Amino acid sequence: MRETKSTCPYCGVGCGVIIESAGAQITGVRGDPAHPANFGRLCTKGSTLHLSATAEVTLQTRLLQPMRRTARGATPANVSWNDALDTATHKFAQVIRDHGPDAVGLYLSGQLLTEDYYVFNKLAKGLIGTNNIDTNSRLCMSSAVAGYKKTLGADAPPACYEDFDAAQCLFIVGSNTAWAHPVLFRRIEDAKRANPALKIVVVDPRRTDTCEIADLHLAIQPGTDVMLFHGLLHLMLWEGWTQPGYIAAHTHGFEALKRTVRDCTPECVAQVCGIDRNDLLAAARLFATSAATLSLYCQGLNQSSSGTAKNAALINLHLATAQIGRPGAGPFSLTGQPNAMGGREVGGMANLLGAHRDLANPAHRAEVAALWGVPDIPSVPGRTAVEMFQAAADGEIRALWIACTNPAQSMPDQATVRRALERCEFVVVQEAFATTATCAFADLLLPATTWGEKVGTVTNSERRISRVRPAVPAPGATRHDWSAAVDFAQRLEALLPRRSAGTLFPYPLDNPAGAEAIWNEHRESTRGRDLDITGLSWAMLDESGPQQWPLPEGLSTGRARLYEDGVFPTPDGRAHFFDAAYKPVAEARDARFPFSLNTGRLRDQWHGMSRTGTLGRLFGHVPEPVVQMHPQDMARRRIGDGELVQVASRRGAIVLPAQANADLGLSQSFIAMHWGEEALGGHDGNGQRLAGVNALSTSAFCPDSKQPELKHAAVRIAKAELPWSLLAMAWLPADTVLSARRALAPLMEKFRFASCVPFGADTQRCGLQFRAADERAPDDALLDRIEALLGLQAAGTLRYADRQRGQRRAARLQPRADGSAGLEAFLLGGDTRAGAWIGTLLREDLPAQQHGRALLSPGATPPTAVPSRGQPVCNCLNVTDLAIRSELARCSGSAEERLDHLQASLKCGTQCGSCVPELRRMVRASAAEAATQLQ
Ligand code: SF4
Repeated sequence: MRETKSTCPYCGVGCGVIIESAGAQITGVRGDPAHPANFGRLCTKGSTLHLSATAEVTLQTRLLQPMRRTARGATPANVSWNDALDTATHKFAQVIRDHGPDAVGLYLSGQLLTEDYYVFNKLAKGLIGTNNIDTNSRLCMSSAVAGYKKTLGADAPPACYEDFDAAQCLFIVGSNTAWAHPVLFRRIEDAKRANPALKIVVVDPRRTDTCEIADLHLAIQPGTDVMLFHGLLHLMLWEGWTQPGYIAAHTHGFEALKRTVRDCTPECVAQVCGIDRNDLLAAARLFATSAATLSLYCQGLNQSSSGTAKNAALINLHLATAQIGRPGAGPFSLTGQPNAMGGREVGGMANLLGAHRDLANPAHRAEVAALWGVPDIPSVPGRTAVEMFQAAADGEIRALWIACTNPAQSMPDQATVRRALERCEFVVVQEAFATTATCAFADLLLPATTWGEKVGTVTNSERRISRVRPAVPAPGATRHDWSAAVDFAQRLEALLPRRSAGTLFPYPLDNPAGAEAIWNEHRESTRGRDLDITGLSWAMLDESGPQQWPLPEGLSTGRARLYEDGVFPTPDGRAHFFDAAYKPVAEARDARFPFSLNTGRLRDQWHGMSRTGTLGRLFGHVPEPVVQMHPQDMARRRIGDGELVQVASRRGAIVLPAQANADLGLSQSFIAMHWGEEALGGHDGNGQRLAGVNALSTSAFCPDSKQPELKHAAVRIAKAELPWSLLAMAWLPADTVLSARRALAPLMEKFRFASCVPFGADTQRCGLQFRAADERAPDDALLDRIEALLGLQAAGTLRYADRQRGQRRAARLQPRADGSAGLEAFLLGGDTRAGAWIGTLLREDLPAQQHGRALLSPGATPPTAVPSRGQPVCNCLNVTDLAIRSELARCSGSAEERLDHLQASLKCGTQCGSCVPELRRMVRASAAEAATQLQ
């Protein structure tokens, strides 16, 4: 048994983990008590990491060999690394020779390590001579980058996690911190507990779980943030709450901004944002007059066609009120991905260069060229994410290298992205998981190492650099991303005109020393820059633990907080007020598309779910794709809870169940960002495959940051008339369930609607649920295939079929040790009304034999009631909503006392704590119910 310190690969909190391993197998994970980001805590995702790295999951989901397709749509065949990289090298060299360097593009990921990023950036800008390198961080943090640079002068979050404890007001905007950054939310809960005077304002169109801790919730209309911030500044000026001394000494540009916000009167803001004027005044007072205001923000500001303006308008408030550069005060962007920060530090994007240099700056280009020993860095701006795929769809980019990301799921406007991937002459996908949608478009698949195997560094939201260490050897033929890129680059150097005296990539391959050598080169590039880390080394990280930048030579620790002296990294040392007028969302609601569609994270899932989607237990909280709507909107359209609806935008349409949620505003809807074609499928009636939630989203982007507006699209929602439905569920052995899911994936597109998701907290076996609907019953052969994959073609399976009526039933029972029989698998085709109770029998492993013929009778009700345990709320201890409600019915007292009672009696929320905000919501709801009953 070995223990290895590393980091969690999911969100930008950057929690430290201790990985337990035995030989080549990861066996456990726990939070690192010494890591300053989390002090031992992990959320539901982090604490289940080891379960996503079992031998069973690895064998069924990982890409373990390089593979090549000789034709699109063909099954890829194994090749050696040598053949794979020779193929890639010759193809890229040919495209560069025939069409110029800008005919190739590299699309990377905020989940790569800093060393991976560094090498890819040098490969594109130093060797190939193109700036066509961008990453999925463009979808995540580029508006935050642009906002910081336009106001404070550098891409540097000025605050740190310790500021949570010193803040007197937390202003949380466009961030469901409770779900997206759970361990930070635990710190916010701690801060509130330690300081009950701490005021928390949440700005979000939805009433999310984050609002449960808020003193004030401003449910603004989607996309109206700039109007809100300008309105707050208008009030601060009117009330005399700004700090003229600070403004005069440390900023410029305030007069122009004052003229802009003059028109943002409380009446106007209340009307545009859809909020109460008194709430606006209360928020302005809290922000400006509290002893220390810390704002926390994320994709609600960033993923917007005016993302930069939103970020900058919020930072304006901090500058105007001097709420910056003090403990507990400042603007603090919460990074979405684990190493979006590291990618920015090495300049791994189309408009950036290493160490926070700008591609548009000739002096910066010359500095980087000198550091690398190449004649120049190309000056032509590179294509950013949306532009890159558009260029590929237009035939201008002919070869794409995609690493550690799944654009066929995560990019907006999937129709264009898929056209790009199909049209591109040569697509390389470097991936750890063979299950992502993008793999289907690859000509060449290169197997990459992943969490628990990788070596290098990452930087979290508070500028803290942590080591990533391998706990187990790289499985199969997988290689570190940087190592494969270096091998490719060294081969390409031999085919392209020489640009340097020796190799640009002198790093030992497949050796941790190579990663350290790359990092050391990056470190040197930061000398004298705002993020100077010349005082840091891997040895220091090993001995003293994670460190924040800047940490220049001569210092022994990094700087926790920036701009305490009021001097900013601008030519005159002053911060700039950014004067931008409010602009509405790119795609306004209208009569044809009357709903706003918002997207966001779920508590227990991560991005495209290539890792979290392997674990049934992480589907306990939200078991399947749904579109949430306000109950009044559903009633007006006669849509029942759970009924299928078609959600259509100007770009595409998907079908999925509707779910009532009064926490949304009227005319608003919400779909989780995670649902790609891997979980949610079907066809549009014309044979066109549906591509998950991003079939709907718009690629309209912010003109400054080029970040697309993933947070808003105008859609219409109407009942989907699909009378024939199917529900199939099965328990399958852990070593076959994910393979069965992959085999079911192509069958999903045979239906107008289909979803396929795992369930169950068991580690020996895993549940799989397949749901579908169509205009009529499909061929028997298709249902036979589904049954076979779910173990329903085995001997002993009970059957019923009525082809004329489109009815089909299959059920397989398994004797248990206690003499009872449990349901192992079932399929209901046609009438699925009995799915609720039969599903409960299977999911909760209840004795099933007494239900006999009812299992096979369409529309049958069970002879005896089948009580469900309910839906899991606390994943760690499998405590359900029904258990919690029943316990709440027995207790009284204040909200905090009821929460304490729940935690003492059921233990829910006492492990990772991710469910505590939901417990608070349930406490509030039960108190409201009790009050209503008393009236
Ligand atoms: Fe990982 Fe959760 Fe920590 Fe984010 S909050 S780094 S997902 S453990």
